[in-house]
Amino acid sequence: MAGLPGIDEALAFVLERARPLALETVPIGAAIGRVLGADAHALVDLPPFDSSAMDGFAVRATDTPGRLRIVGHSAAGRPESRELAAGEAIAISTGAIVPAGADAVIPVERTTVAGGTVEVEAVAEGDNRREQGGDVRIGAVVVPAGTRLGPAQVGALAATGAAEVLCARRPRVAVLATGTELRAPGEPLASGEIYESNSLVLRAQLESAGAEVVVLHAVGDDVESTRDAIAAGLDADVLVTSGGVSVGEHDLVRGALAALGAEEVFWRVAVRPGKPVAFAVRGETLVFGLPGNPVSALVGFELFVRPAVLALQGARTTGPPFLPGRLGAPVRLSLEREGLVRARTRVEPDGVVVDPVSGQESHMIVQAAGADALVRVPLGSGALAAGMPVRYLAI
Ligand code: AMP
Ligand code: MG
Repeated sequence: MAGLPGIDEALAFVLERARPLALETVPIGAAIGRVLGADAHALVDLPPFDSSAMDGFAVRATDTPGRLRIVGHSAAGRPESRELAAGEAIAISTGAIVPAGADAVIPVERTTVAGGTVEVEAVAEGDNRREQGGDVRIGAVVVPAGTRLGPAQVGALAATGAAEVLCARRPRVAVLATGTELRAPGEPLASGEIYESNSLVLRAQLESAGAEVVVLHAVGDDVESTRDAIAAGLDADVLVTSGGVSVGEHDLVRGALAALGAEEVFWRVAVRPGKPVAFAVRGETLVFGLPGNPVSALVGFELFVRPAVLALQGARTTGPPFLPGRLGAPVRLSLEREGLVRARTRVEPDGVVVDPVSGQESHMIVQAAGADALVRVPLGSGALAAGMPVRYLAI
């Protein structure tokens, strides 16, 4: 096993080759999940004007406490043009412009209206007034380049006037499952056959990473159909295959890639599960040959493919985003391969504890489905004891 790259080394090989795709304009309404390609600047002050934080009365703080004459009404979107003079109050709603001359707002709960007057308690200058530009000033950076836009970022961009944003194009990713034994769910299984699940997992993982996915028809372990399907997949920005990358005589993916002119960057990584992962490039296309065992494919995706898909979109952080935790039970160490152990997280007062699930073999997708974490187990001999600090990846 000597000489195989470790996880970090293999990931570095991938990221060296995953350069951001060309920028395009994206309407703000379609920008969720996209990665910003350039700093986005505020097109307005936010708030755009001094506004009220409460329903109540706009006043001069020096007039309070006291009884004031109600001389107008400023509602959200319907400003009061009149300027406030001494001894006056203007009824105001949340989000409305604080009229000129007023320097505070008294909430309605602290007032008593009688006739055309209002009795107000004391307020200090600036109370319940949101200052123009208090959130952001026009021209300042709202969201920096490389940020993956979540709901709050989309909201910030819209609130500061962005109708569209610049983002790297979404990577087009082709998925190809290989294996003569594979049948689609819903079909009857003949002897020796199993249901094909990897393409569904990979599609879901890819879409959650921002890719545009095309799932190719699964192919059997036959030289010609494997080569034809891979040739079609090489038109995409990324091709992800599953199965057929081990050392068996029916493992045809690497041979097909070589025949089609793809340059293999690495094959096999010192990791369990997922050792026989292959990574190749042809022109601008990145190719990941993931092993067929469902847990190996799932893990290989999180370690290498998701970071690449994010890097192609220009993401500032590409992960994998390992988090700190500690072991709830001992795990065995290996001197040859780092491990990604499927575990369930438990939040304790002093941090997250990860409990390995039973059934750690790489074909056990059902056991893996009961886990919510992949615990990274370093190289070593013996065992890592319960309570030891580890890092884990949420899945
Ligand atoms: P391979 O990497 O082709 O040697 O496949 C390893 C194991 O994973 C075998 O038991 C395959 O039957 C299984 N396998 C391969 N591809 C898939 C798939 N798409 N869905 C579910 N299991 C698969
Ligand atoms: Mg196979």
